[in-house]
Amino acid sequence: MDLKSYIRVIEDFPQPGVRFKDITTILKDGAVYRAAIEQLKQTIQHLQIDIIAGPEARGFVIGAPLALELGVGFVPIRKKGKLPGETITADYNLEYGADVLAMHKDAIQPGQRVLIADDLLATGGTIATSIDLVRQLGGEIVGAVFLIELSYLHGRDKLDNVELYSLVTY
Ligand code: AMP
Repeated sequence: MDLKSYIRVIEDFPQPGVRFKDITTILKDGAVYRAAIEQLKQTIQHLQIDIIAGPEARGFVIGAPLALELGVGFVPIRKKGKLPGETITADYNLEYGADVLAMHKDAIQPGQRVLIADDLLATGGTIATSIDLVRQLGGEIVGAVFLIELSYLHGRDKLDNVELYSLVTY
């Protein structure tokens, strides 16, 4: 299935100059959503994965179904102040903005093999920060997987020691 044809591009959202890649047009169609998760699964099935971690909010709709498919657990990475238990935090930057990400202290055991999942790789700031959190807890990053990669923002260069997998490139 040609996933790119199901992605809606919205100009100047959330601010002028950003070409927003809207994946709700994939998610609302059960067959397309399933095909996307299936393609992601095939892309990473050679990796040995103990657990998947994904940043809110679209990392959840990609990471959690992928975790179910693989039979592994899922760990949410959230904006600071949202998780109820004891957390660790790290600063991050977006294509449009900056914030702090958090993860539960007991979310990952030292030595666990962790796959990061998100909808889209832009500048790589979110994923670099997610990787930082996982490593703070002693997790081993086996790779990061995305539906979409914006190659013109060169997120890969920021993450050159991590295996990156994406299905659709702009
Ligand atoms: P970054 O940290 O720059 O790699 O940004 C990645 C995160 O921001 C992803 O989780 C996306 O959900 C969101 N994002 C950044 N740029 C875009 C864009 N052009 N279209 C859709 N989502 C975006």
